[in-house]
Amino acid sequence: MVGITDQLRATKPQPDLVDRFYKVVEKLKLENPFHCYQCFKCTSGCTSFRLTEIMPHSFVNFVRLGFVEDMMRSELLWACCQCLKCKERCPQDVAPVDVIFLLRRMTVSSGAEIPEDLSKIIMNVTETGFIQGIQKVKVGETSVDREQLGLPPITLPNLEKFSSVLMKAMEEQIE
Ligand code: SF4
Ligand code: SF4
Repeated sequence: MVGITDQLRATKPQPDLVDRFYKVVEKLKLENPFHCYQCFKCTSGCTSFRLTEIMPHSFVNFVRLGFVEDMMRSELLWACCQCLKCKERCPQDVAPVDVIFLLRRMTVSSGAEIPEDLSKIIMNVTETGFIQGIQKVKVGETSVDREQLGLPPITLPNLEKFSSVLMKAMEEQIE
């Protein structure tokens, strides 16, 4: 299997995406990633770094070097669980999670596919207001619902209001 660092050796920085990236950084008044001095504090507290080849501090560094498209395809983009520890720890206020969010937006607006599990979550949220639909659970050989387990009913959200807020957020353009 070809690793990301080998792939990066075979590619070049992507100036168009770099321009787009810095326009949004400016618009959202985010800290410029060039202020990162690679201290590694973000990675040392990251919840997801063991799942990916590229670690948060390297992610920021590769974006600084112009490899925006490559980072849009990296595992960390979707493996980050948004725990925000890097935002708390970064002495320079750069926060890899801000860079990750921004590249996620750029990835989605470019029409690229997102991981299937995330698509399912989005569908569930728009259709039910919940990340996961209400399900029965197995107790021995039988499937039981909340009522059978003696649990109180769940109050369903006002879907109409919820959807309109969600649609407004999705339509908001930052680029
Ligand atoms: S904690 Fe901040 S300054 Fe340190 S490597 Fe991570 S992003 Fe860069
Ligand atoms: S927000 Fe993402 S990148 Fe930052 S520490 Fe948490 S999992 Fe790691």
